[in-house]
Amino acid sequence: MMKNNLEKPKAGLYIHIPFCKKKCNYCSFYSLTAINKAPEFIAALQKEMEIYQDWWPEYDTVYLGGGTPSLLSINHLAELAHKIRKIFSLSSDAEWTIEVNPDDITLTFLKNIKSCGFNRLSIGIQSIQDNTLSWLGRRHNAQQALQAFDLAKKAGFQNIGVDLIYGVPISKLTLWEKELQQIIALKPEHISAYQLSFEPGSIFFKKKNQGHIQPLREKEEFSFFVNTSQILQTAGYIHYEVSNFSRDQTKKSAHNQKYWQHLPYLGLGPAAHSFRPFRRHWNHRSLDQYCQDLSKNIAPIKGFEELKINELRLETLYFGFRTSRGIDLKKIQEKFNQNLISDPPGLAHRLIQEKKLILFNGYLAPTTLGLALADALPLLW
Ligand code: SF4
Repeated sequence: MMKNNLEKPKAGLYIHIPFCKKKCNYCSFYSLTAINKAPEFIAALQKEMEIYQDWWPEYDTVYLGGGTPSLLSINHLAELAHKIRKIFSLSSDAEWTIEVNPDDITLTFLKNIKSCGFNRLSIGIQSIQDNTLSWLGRRHNAQQALQAFDLAKKAGFQNIGVDLIYGVPISKLTLWEKELQQIIALKPEHISAYQLSFEPGSIFFKKKNQGHIQPLREKEEFSFFVNTSQILQTAGYIHYEVSNFSRDQTKKSAHNQKYWQHLPYLGLGPAAHSFRPFRRHWNHRSLDQYCQDLSKNIAPIKGFEELKINELRLETLYFGFRTSRGIDLKKIQEKFNQNLISDPPGLAHRLIQEKKLILFNGYLAPTTLGLALADALPLLW
């Protein structure tokens, strides 16, 4: 066992909390408003942990996402944290993140989750403009968003991330830039800034298809993206993934890097996904089905896929071009027998000339312009 621990990278543990008080207009994540089902869910989740207790030797990240983890009572959160420690082997310096919504939290709640072991907060601020928040269908206002950040500081959190959404058609680029400066003034350790997207299954997706919402044009989206990156980099943030910025190298999200680097992660809860070389599986997107399976001690798996070599190669390119670290050319050559610089001929050099990519220390990495086009780049190879 000891030998395995040394050889294997550490895994991440993700737990999906499937409850929200109401559905936000842009959201397509799996969640229900039936918070009264929380006790049943917590019991099922603990059974699921037991099923997976030997899935991976050691973990160094825990991430409670959703849904809205801050809707759970402190007793339920403490019970979960205790069970996680009991079942899984966790590094002593593991990153423990919990997503919270601004209008759920009080100073007492934050102090309590800190004593459960959570050392990183991800606050769903999204915007500090009241009209934008109400258009997005959020249940908090700007004042609550700022107050939540203040409470997190008072509770003693030293690693605070804020989630933001930009490119909202009812707002203007100059307003967003002002908003971003106000967020920078708070000095969060981490900022996730997502361009508004119209995900199938969301309320906005329907409205867009019915012609009730006119999304930004591509050129406008590009300006939002580039200006966001420039403003945050000028303020000292590292733009390390398409939508993610950290104050320094140590404040990058260790958990999310598991996804981008093809490292193992175990996902528990309805609709959660798991990956370990080279198999991905996902749970039922139904709390009832999830609980039903676990009541019979069955893993609540809806489906799985074994990644074939070319799928793995494409995913490696896809994730690599989304991060400023880029792609390790030596590893690609060893794993997939492809020299990205010469195969196909001329492509890498053209993209370097166009300032979309750079070659640095054996990595082929996207520039800010490259990050804006990240999803299209892998298809060229
Ligand atoms: S954005 Fe967050 S709070 Fe809003 S519905 Fe989705 S999961 Fe729930």
